[in-house]
Amino acid sequence: MSAELNLATKNLNKMGFLDLEVDPTLDLVEAINQLKKEKNAVILAHYYQESEIQDIADYIGDSLGLSQQAAETDADIIVFAGVHFMAETAKMLSPSKKVLLPDLKAGCSLADSCPAPVFRKFKEKYPDHKVVSYINCTAELKTLTDVCCTSTNAKHIIDSFPEDQPLIFAPDVNLGRWLVKETGRDMVLWNGSCMVHEIFSHEKIVKLQMKHPEAAFIAHPECEAHILDAADHVGSTSSLLRFTRESGHQEYIVATEPGIIHQMQKASPDKKFYPAPPNNSCACNECPHMKRNTMEKLYLCMKHELPEITLPEWVIEKGVASIDRMLEISAKAGL
Ligand code: SF4
Repeated sequence: MSAELNLATKNLNKMGFLDLEVDPTLDLVEAINQLKKEKNAVILAHYYQESEIQDIADYIGDSLGLSQQAAETDADIIVFAGVHFMAETAKMLSPSKKVLLPDLKAGCSLADSCPAPVFRKFKEKYPDHKVVSYINCTAELKTLTDVCCTSTNAKHIIDSFPEDQPLIFAPDVNLGRWLVKETGRDMVLWNGSCMVHEIFSHEKIVKLQMKHPEAAFIAHPECEAHILDAADHVGSTSSLLRFTRESGHQEYIVATEPGIIHQMQKASPDKKFYPAPPNNSCACNECPHMKRNTMEKLYLCMKHELPEITLPEWVIEKGVASIDRMLEISAKAGL
């Protein structure tokens, strides 16, 4: 091992990634494709990744699709271009495979808003309740969860419990409130939220609508209730993408992380997309965690097979049951 690699490996936890120089003349797309072949690796990328990463991925999708792919792949290495909890989910579903994440510090404010030890105490107050957790949570929280869900399958998961079964929903309070409205179930909600989806500005969206009166307004259910109430369509990233492909509108104002617009634009090149503005000085609302991954970090992590996601065995054994149950219910529902 070279001295540089040795030092970068020692500093891995501090930096979150291998802090090594990449030759600026290197064709990263070609080099990454070569590494995929050599190592029998698969790149799974979330819709919120930067467009270059989406374009080199073997599979791009939302949390449900990504977990289904992670469970089914026959690759030896899963490279997760997403955030930490997603790579953990892949590891839980494929424990014998090597799972890599380009930057360990690609976290998630929503997952962080529900620390497992605090949630454990909260849960003790509701001994008769079952727990449904949004997949955007830590591996340890999944060990305290009966069934996970994503925004694509959440309604099916909730409806799978008998009507008289009381439920706790964690960690996203906005998605929880939307589900209470959609399913008519009075659930106990954990008060967590996503830093990206909770700061859309209704006032600025209205101004944007005045500029583009023909545009449909579409929103992810992690947004606050007053934003969802104003939306023409609410759904998961896959559902929003499908809506832009299939609806007759030519213009869309999109209230979710703007990375998804890359796929929307590719699927409907003649349509126009405007990211919904947040209540700060920025024009769009990027997830700083998702955007920690870069092509350089992706290349380095594939080349050196670091950083790798590892989990204690008990977490995998206990936590995976909640994800397996989710996948079973989704398969039955044809999702
Ligand atoms: S967009 Fe929100 S929920 Fe998704 S990774 Fe970023 S902080 Fe987490």
